[in-house]
Amino acid sequence: MMKKAGIIMINEKIREAEKNLLHIYNRFPITLDHGDGVYLYDTDGKQYLDFAAGIAVMGLGYHNRELEDALKEQITKLCHTSNLYYHENCGEAAEALNKASGMDKVFFTNSGTEAIEGALKTARKYAYLKQSGRYEFIAMEDAFHGRSIGAVSVTGTKAYREPFEPMLQGVHFAEYNNLDSVRALVNEKTCAIILEPLQGEGGIHPATKEFMEGIRKICDEQDILMICDEIQCGMGRTGFMFAWQEYGVKPDILTMAKAIGNGIPVGAFAVTEKVAEASMKPGDHGSTYGGNPLACMAVKKVLELFEKNQIVEHVNEVAPYLTQRLNELVEKYDCISERRGKGLIQGIVLTKNPVDVVKKALEQGLIMITAKEKTIRFVPPLIIEKKHIDEMIEKLECALTA
Ligand SMILES: *Cc1c(COP(=O)(O)O)cnc(C)c1O
Repeated sequence: MMKKAGIIMINEKIREAEKNLLHIYNRFPITLDHGDGVYLYDTDGKQYLDFAAGIAVMGLGYHNRELEDALKEQITKLCHTSNLYYHENCGEAAEALNKASGMDKVFFTNSGTEAIEGALKTARKYAYLKQSGRYEFIAMEDAFHGRSIGAVSVTGTKAYREPFEPMLQGVHFAEYNNLDSVRALVNEKTCAIILEPLQGEGGIHPATKEFMEGIRKICDEQDILMICDEIQCGMGRTGFMFAWQEYGVKPDILTMAKAIGNGIPVGAFAVTEKVAEASMKPGDHGSTYGGNPLACMAVKKVLELFEKNQIVEHVNEVAPYLTQRLNELVEKYDCISERRGKGLIQGIVLTKNPVDVVKKALEQGLIMITAKEKTIRFVPPLIIEKKHIDEMIEKLECALTA
């Protein structure tokens, strides 16, 4: 009892201190303390099975000893140098990331949003050097690319943009997976087409092969750049190291973040040789923190562990079971209309408010997140096993029927 009272007091203190924050987030009423594998624990010691992974970030799960040891060692050595000097991790992280992503040159940022900003600037610089007069972007309805003015300008949700208008000039929105709607917007001013190979936030919509191929073709014919945002769907989540690889449709610019640092804030945009040669030059862009020794150690080590632990192979082993179990739910419950997605990025669409289900799941010790269109999104750590899928389904069923 004494312990419990103490915890309640600690939690009250935490809630009180939160009043100093700008109220931007509506938080669920739990205070997380630590994690281990695919489980999180609150300050009360209550265990939660985590099917959100901090929004598709913790691919390797929590408390990975090898990653932690590497990071601890790096912290005691050097966290920051600025980009005016060499340090041993930056080039090595870039080499590993290029190998994994199939791209040629990379720039490290601190977040996904910044990766998008860099990608947009790179596309504009490419057009500028060609004196093509191209500056417009075609983005997709329901796309999510981040919250800065540049990123939100290409984000396909009006409510995210409207209060902050005017946005970037020359952004047009096409219907996702509708090639004709893209074609209708392409003109002599189009500089790049940006899309997620699988829309995460937008409700777990994978691109069709025709759509990816069609966009590639349009881009090739008119020297328009194709930007793939794999901030959420990259890093093994779809069953491929990067989602574009499934389609064999290589983008000119690829954005990454979330899982590449497994919790250490880091993002990146990468380009092909063709774009690298004819775009960003010294002085065009920069970041004080971007590519710092700690972030680069995280990227280097995470990629090493992906390979060593055969994470992508593991995703392909367990994902069909998740698909099967979710399909069973669609059959069984009237309040679930559809399952979408692939690999370990899937969703079910509800006919009722998914936030209520997420809240009830929390009581059952299950952490989940939602996406657009009444979707519950499943983006667990990539290290989950079948038994965790069973545990999730059991808890989700309790939440659905509660
Ligand atoms: C999360 C996300 C972003 C933004 O990344 P931040 O790290 O939050 O800035 C951009 N694009 C996609 C597809 C995302 O899922």
